[in-house]
Amino acid sequence: MRKLLLAVCLFFPAVAFAQQQPDFSKVEIKVTKISGNIYMLEGQGGNIAASVGQDGIVIVDDEFAPLAEKIQAALKNLGVTDKPVRFVLNTHFHGDHTGGNIPFQNGGATIIAHDNVRKRLISGGPGGNGGSIQTQNQPQPKEALPIITFERDVTVHLNGEDIRALHFPAGHTDGDSVIFFPKNNVVHMGDDFVRYGFPFIDVMNGGTVEGMAEACEKVAAQLPAEVKVIPGHGAISNLDDVRAFAKMLRETTAVIQKALAEHQTLDQMKKEKILEPWQKWSGTFVNSDAFIETVYNSLTGTKGKFIRHN
Ligand SMILES: [Zn+2]
Repeated sequence: MRKLLLAVCLFFPAVAFAQQQPDFSKVEIKVTKISGNIYMLEGQGGNIAASVGQDGIVIVDDEFAPLAEKIQAALKNLGVTDKPVRFVLNTHFHGDHTGGNIPFQNGGATIIAHDNVRKRLISGGPGGNGGSIQTQNQPQPKEALPIITFERDVTVHLNGEDIRALHFPAGHTDGDSVIFFPKNNVVHMGDDFVRYGFPFIDVMNGGTVEGMAEACEKVAAQLPAEVKVIPGHGAISNLDDVRAFAKMLRETTAVIQKALAEHQTLDQMKKEKILEPWQKWSGTFVNSDAFIETVYNSLTGTKGKFIRHN
């Protein structure tokens, strides 16, 4: 049931016109201390990381606008500071990670993100895996946009830590950042690493399966073994989980690459169930067929049809 809810809500802004709106009044914010002064907040949408200290609060991603008050209250409840959130880092542009930008910015926070996050929030437009997963992103008003953007990386010096956002090209989208908390030994992977099975890759917004695998491998290679990993969605993880995820991405990509070289069609790949050995990764949101489409479209550069809206 929880998984089903995730599937429906993950792209809530995109599918709001078609799906029943989740009841945000029933959502509770669960706060988990990860390390030192770093916390993970779970409500509805992407996981939030928070650095909470005397300098103020910086959060990574902000879920949905109707949850902003609850998120702020949960942070205040920690009893460290009464100050409002000072900085928000967006890992990418999707609405389940940036939906709270307006209330947080109106509350005095400065939003920071990769250049392409700002571009895609402004433009809106269709998204998806180029196949059966189709999303629609509404153009966002000025109040939702990052004030500070960067091309490669940015560092926020707060609470005695050099919190670093590093861009990884063409992974889940074309605007992904991984956020490092080096003193606390914590990393927030955004949706380049998720725990709901085969990942959604927004091929229509510049995502590629190889970029996602590379991001996971590079992060895993440079971090100490005991680092705590906050995934874009799902439970707190470790580097072995990240490596297993990257391995699955590489292996499934190789199988589809081989089938492509043998001139198999997308339908043939589905019919032959060529991802059967990775069946345990098939989820309610992205099942095996949807992931075959994703990798196929990623490798062939197929962006799917433009979906008319409104
Ligand atoms: Zn996403």
